[in-house]
Amino acid sequence: MEEQNKARVKLIVALVIIFLVGVVGYKLYINSVENDFNDISTVEIERVGDHYTGQFHRPDCPLAKKILEPVIFEDGATAKENNKQAREEGYVPCKRCHPEKLK
Ligand SMILES: [Zn+2]
Repeated sequence: MEEQNKARVKLIVALVIIFLVGVVGYKLYINSVENDFNDISTVEIERVGDHYTGQFHRPDCPLAKKILEPVIFEDGATAKENNKQAREEGYVPCKRCHPEKLK
């Protein structure tokens, strides 16, 4: 009887530990996903204009990284506003990264 109770307590303690590790792990995972999302969204709304080609790009476009004198459109709170700003300054969207299409 005594042995059975000890085994039961050990099982309960093990389950509680597994549960706590799971909760902490889940919170860490959610946090990292949210942080990634925030990082992506701040980078995602910026648009990069190329004075020479007259095109504007997403910041992660391979062509945007080669621009010697980039014009950054980052005043708008959303990608749409920055697209509009780039358009108003005479830039056209890049045909490779399609900055006006939502990903
Ligand atoms: Zn591009």
